Amino acid sequence: MTKVVKVRQVPDEESPSTSELSSKLLTWYELHRRDFPWRSASSCYEKIIAELLLQRTQAVTISNFYYTFLQEFPSWESLSVAKESRLRELLKPIGLWRQRARMLLSLSRALSEMEFRLPSTREALERLPGISQYMASAILLLCHGRKEPLLDVNMARILERVYGPRKLADIRYDPLLQKTARSAVNVDDPVGVNWAVMDLAATTCLQNTPKCLECPLSEMCQFAQRLESSAEERRT
Ligand code: SF4
Repeated sequence: MTKVVKVRQVPDEESPSTSELSSKLLTWYELHRRDFPWRSASSCYEKIIAELLLQRTQAVTISNFYYTFLQEFPSWESLSVAKESRLRELLKPIGLWRQRARMLLSLSRALSEMEFRLPSTREALERLPGISQYMASAILLLCHGRKEPLLDVNMARILERVYGPRKLADIRYDPLLQKTARSAVNVDDPVGVNWAVMDLAATTCLQNTPKCLECPLSEMCQFAQRLESSAEERRT
């Protein structure tokens, strides 16, 4: 029998209660999680390199490439003295090699001026080359143990389907999405909730063909309920 994961949360009056969502996600994740090498990585560098490589690229592609990259560049130090031409060549199989090589070099060289220590505040992180709001959250979550949501289009899709549409087009500034995402990870296992959302978005809550019948969130999901009502109307 599946053990239901119970979560403790501090309620926020301005966003929907998310404890049921977090609990269902963590319970589902125990059975359906995808295993990727970076999920068991021990160093901050290994975790963040994976996040940087994963941008605009499928996890399966990076999964096959991850150790090749780490073998040649095992640290920020080694990356900061890399030749751009070698980095481009190495990155070619995963695409976007010019941008990636430029970004990885700029970031590692900026970090060399900070003794290769990633800052622990959002403000300082977002001043670094290549560090977006999402990447700053990833660093705070995975390297500094903060309860930060990895809010991207996938997490936004799930939250909007469950709770209703955002108010602003840009995810980074939408107050409801931001608050709801923050509330969802305000649990003992924020990394688990984030990875559960990623996996659910990749396997079940697909952009064009959501598999609501297999989804742990279907009973609380507005989108699934609307689908169910229209199917019922068609039947009557
Ligand atoms: S019930 Fe359907 S729409 Fe709602 S989160 Fe699950 S898969 Fe997505």
